Amino acid sequence: MPKIANETDLQYKRRVIDIKSASFCAAKWYNATIWLGSGQTTSCHHPLPHAIDVEEIKTNPKAIHNTPQKKAERAMMQRGERPSGCEYCWKIEDIADQEDASDEIISDRVYKTVIYDDGDLDEAFNTSAEQDINLQTLEIAFDRTCQFACSYCNPAFSSSWVRDIRRNGGYTNLVSDGRNHFTHEHDHSQLYSIDDVNPYVEAFFKWWESDLHKTLKELRITGGEPLMSGYTWRLIDWFQEHRGQSTTRLAINSNLGFEQDKLERLLDATEGIELDLYTSNESIGQHATYIRDGLDWDQWTSNLLYLLDGRKLRGLHVMCTINALCLISLTEFLWMIVDLKKKYGKDAINFSVNILRFPSFQSPLILPEDVKEQARKELVRFVNMANSEMKLLHEFEFNQVARLINYLMEVDTPHSGALSREILQRDFKNFYAQYDQRRGKDFKNTFPELTEWYNAL
Ligand code: SF4
Repeated sequence: MPKIANETDLQYKRRVIDIKSASFCAAKWYNATIWLGSGQTTSCHHPLPHAIDVEEIKTNPKAIHNTPQKKAERAMMQRGERPSGCEYCWKIEDIADQEDASDEIISDRVYKTVIYDDGDLDEAFNTSAEQDINLQTLEIAFDRTCQFACSYCNPAFSSSWVRDIRRNGGYTNLVSDGRNHFTHEHDHSQLYSIDDVNPYVEAFFKWWESDLHKTLKELRITGGEPLMSGYTWRLIDWFQEHRGQSTTRLAINSNLGFEQDKLERLLDATEGIELDLYTSNESIGQHATYIRDGLDWDQWTSNLLYLLDGRKLRGLHVMCTINALCLISLTEFLWMIVDLKKKYGKDAINFSVNILRFPSFQSPLILPEDVKEQARKELVRFVNMANSEMKLLHEFEFNQVARLINYLMEVDTPHSGALSREILQRDFKNFYAQYDQRRGKDFKNTFPELTEWYNAL
């Protein structure tokens, strides 16, 4: 076990991490996110992605993870130096240093390290940084094929979004979209067409078949929509043909926008494999179909019930992305999940609450105060009843709702570089006016509670 009994996070950090170096983080060795469509990787979701050398992977497929950049950063961590890409963690640690040192704040590198065995951590630290390392946890995206074009997504992650831009041109007059998410097709995200041989995908399968399937503890496939990618099914076929040869747990992010027979096929094909399914939603009915363009609410809920009734999954997880438009029915949505917990058990279905920061004009913080206050009150009532009285929330679910309640009350801007609220609100209106036209939607009819405010923007 990585942690010993009753050990706090801080005690663990001092016992296992600090004795190695002042900057050690196991994610640089054992964890990766790899976008095979764009040929990019990073160690956890905080550092920006960097390019994988397409020539190197022809002879060494492990280089889709073991890039020269990661090797240089491992060497820095062995020396106790801080790779600049990990500034998310350093900032948090530096805040802690300025305050009372006895009250040290734990940065993500502790949480990204504690999941691995102590012996593996010693081995990573004592191995030459030049050596290739086999991953233990991996999140992978094969391509961006997706039948949805959610308002908070963009063409880098959805082929339906690409079609919108191709057909109608880029969105215009968005002052705060500094990263130009909505102005072009993001061709760099899909370097090879679906019919071409993608060398990054081939390198992954080569590594998987040689030895990755023996060392990897968890493989999470994301997208696009993974169940629309032929590569996901190629991997599932491998599991079927090599039953018992890999103990890797499989996790799939899916929008569940399918007829039930696709899920039946998935469950049949993964019989005997530990499978977690992650799906997204954060509001009810017409709100959900407005925000998540492509979603059929009845189909999504009936697929959820099908998966719960089947009880074949290791876990079913609902990821809530807290954007401005979900606040009106978010609590009703969370009650729906709690009702499912009541029926199927507390562990049968979980939820996570992730607060949207980009694009900042879709942040819940741009809403009028009375709407935020109303949502906050409903969430307080929800958390008190579902957690304290009904005892149906896990600690992480309670903490994440509590964090959102505080966020709605105390935070003013979505992120440090965000523009003023007036500019974000103007972009909000500019964006949804164009979204309505392109997608055949109607903001005012869908959100009558916001119409007066929207008209006045
Ligand atoms: S140090 Fe922090 S930012 Fe860097 S890989 Fe580890 S958890 Fe991620």
